[in-house]
Amino acid sequence: MGLSDIASKIRAAEQAAGRAAGSVTLIAVSKVQPLDRVVAVLEQGHRVFGENYVQEAAGKWPDLQARFGKVDLHMIGPLQTNKAKVAVDLFDAIHSVDRPSLAEKLARLAQDRGRCPQLFIQVNTGEEAQKAGVLPAELDAFLAACRGMDLTVAGLMCIPPEGEDSTPHFTALAGMAARNGLTGLSMGMSGDFEAAIAAGATHVRVGSAIFGARSYA
Ligand SMILES: *Cc1c(COP(=O)(O)O)cnc(C)c1O
Repeated sequence: MGLSDIASKIRAAEQAAGRAAGSVTLIAVSKVQPLDRVVAVLEQGHRVFGENYVQEAAGKWPDLQARFGKVDLHMIGPLQTNKAKVAVDLFDAIHSVDRPSLAEKLARLAQDRGRCPQLFIQVNTGEEAQKAGVLPAELDAFLAACRGMDLTVAGLMCIPPEGEDSTPHFTALAGMAARNGLTGLSMGMSGDFEAAIAAGATHVRVGSAIFGARSYA
């Protein structure tokens, strides 16, 4: 597919949902992709990227930003507390806030620096044992705890279970956000970003449909 196809599909989905053009941010997920594919998307003018691993991102984006200018970088993978410092200095947004110890670390770093990346709380909407994220029943208390630490939370993020219809998960996440006065909704990947936009996504995270299949070899 590629960047321009995905961008036009997003525009069409915004329109179909009666939403303003440009109301959905496309995060191009470049984790594990060969550098030439990332450079090709930068050369097409795209400036919003997502990464899953702090070390991989730190090894690649300082050079790329020196070459192409400022890029909006989103951390979308699980974040270890001991990598929070590097993450806060590298990323403009973190989509995987999912536990009090991480929130406390982020709050301390934010206080030291006087600024903080945009934060999304990851919700484990499918209640899967192996998946990160707070359980839906724990979200309101966790959000209150974050706010009690003076953290500004922009929205919620989810990764629906594989092989299931994503829409009920997107709808549930949108309900949790609305109930808590949160406007950001990070949901939708290569296979379901149009359904996510229909359900109110503000950020879609699309990797393989832009860059091609990932090879972990
Ligand atoms: C890898 C990843 C994506 C992108 O997945 P694709 O199916 O390649 O679009 C999106 N979100 C998260 C959290 C990911 O880890």
